[in-house]
Order: sequence, then structure tokens, then C-alpha cells
Amino acid sequence: MRPYTLHLSNFRYNLTVKTIKLANIGKCIYCLTSSHPLQTEHIIPYALNGPWILRRATCEKCAAITSSIELIILRGSLNLFRAGLDFQTRRKELRPTTWTLPVTRDGTEEIWTIPTTEYPVFLDLPVYELPAHQTGKTIERGINYVAHPLVIPNFQSVSEALKNRGVTSFTLKNTWEPHAFARFLAKVAYGFAVSFYGLDNLQEAYVLPYILDENQSDIGRYVGSDTTKPHEGKHFYEIDLFRRGLEIIERIRLFGTLPVPDYIVVVGRLRDPKNVV
Ligand SMILES: [Zn+2]
Repeated sequence: MRPYTLHLSNFRYNLTVKTIKLANIGKCIYCLTSSHPLQTEHIIPYALNGPWILRRATCEKCAAITSSIELIILRGSLNLFRAGLDFQTRRKELRPTTWTLPVTRDGTEEIWTIPTTEYPVFLDLPVYELPAHQTGKTIERGINYVAHPLVIPNFQSVSEALKNRGVTSFTLKNTWEPHAFARFLAKVAYGFAVSFYGLDNLQEAYVLPYILDENQSDIGRYVGSDTTKPHEGKHFYEIDLFRRGLEIIERIRLFGTLPVPDYIVVVGRLRDPKNVV
């Protein structure tokens, strides 16, 4: 079967984006309740300019859980990247306008505070191992890193400006919570599978317990990376969906016009092959 694909290609660093409404679900896609008020679910968060939304698709309780996962990523590891590239935000007052940068100048180490717009804004998405479900490997705990390839989209202009001010080197620091980011990827993949197949056609969503319960410890079974070299693609966001038998597998690229890794998520199993395209 040809992969089913969602691509968002109409911007590179112009991050203005139109919302794309995919479906009105009428149930919480996480706990299946239909008796509580339901909210909109962004497959990729609003704060990353995610265009795809499922309407009436999450209850307040589950939205609190998924938001808490997203906040770890958005206000943590991706905070500078979001500010530097000026992604949309509902909380402009929380956006950092300056950032500290350890530099070496004239052989001396100094800490500079510089505007985010002049900062070497960087992206260092983690590369994981392939999902253990694919390789047959046993995962005892968590998820295993392979690398953190570094991308600095504005490297040339910023490094020239720093060089002109006598800087010979600078240090970039970031913190990732690999388990939280894997849960984030699981959530993106699950939302997309629901939008394509419909909630009722999923017999089992392998990733659901990992999204809802942070104590599920072996998320590397179902979430990982394609460990081939990170590469630049055509689309800023790209989600491709494949099937292997009844199993649903997705390939996800975030910020794909930069050289980033492809993530692989084994989402779950379908109930009824008759309903499958
Ligand atoms: Zn719910």
C-alpha cells in the first residue's frame, strides 16, 4: 500500500500557518469518554504551529496529561528554538527575549546576554534506536539515545557577528528528557492514526498507556528513530503512515526542512481490515 501522508510544505521559516480541521471525533481519543466536555486536540501543538486539529477529541483530564508532556518539550528543550524562529504563542509574556551564551574572547571566558534574534538558535533533536518492536531487542527501561545532531539554522550570520566582536568560540547547552519527548512523539502519531482510521477501527493502541501513564517504563519498544543520517527534506512537518499487516507504523519528521532525524512510531493494531484503505 502507498503510505498515507500529511505534509505541510508551504513554509520554511515563514511560520504563518492555516489551521486544518481533520475530523470531529465526539469522544476523548485517550479515555473514550463522551460524557465530559470535549476540547480540540492539536496533533502537533499550537505552539509549534501545528496545523492539524481534531475537533471534540479530548476531555479535560486527558488534555491536562498531554499538555504536561508538551510543556516539558516546549518550555524546555525547544524553548530557544521556538523563540528564535518566532513560532506562534498564546503566552507572549513567557517568551524569552534574551538568552545567555558562554563565549571565549581574547582567551577569556565570559557569559554574554544577547537578544534571542542574534543568538545561535539551535536544534538538537535526539536520535534514538529503532523501536525494539521492529528489531526484536529487549528494552528494560526507557529509550536509548544514539546521538544529538546539532543544527544551527542561522549559524553563518550569527557566527560572523560574534567573530566581529572578537569571539573565538561559544558554548551551546540544552537539556532533553528523552522519555517525555518519546511520549510526545507517541501522542503525535496516535492523533494522526485516529484521524486517518477513526477511533473505532483501532483494536489496540500500543502507545496509549505510554501517553497516559508516565510510569510505563519501556517506551523504546514502540518509539524510536530511523538511525540513518539526518537529512533535509521538503516539508516542515511530515507524517507518513504505513501498514505492516494490521499494524500501523508512522514516520514523523519535525522541522523537516532542516537536517533532522526521522522518528518511527509503532502506533498499534487495526481492528477490521475491511475498513482499511
Ligand atoms: Zn479523556
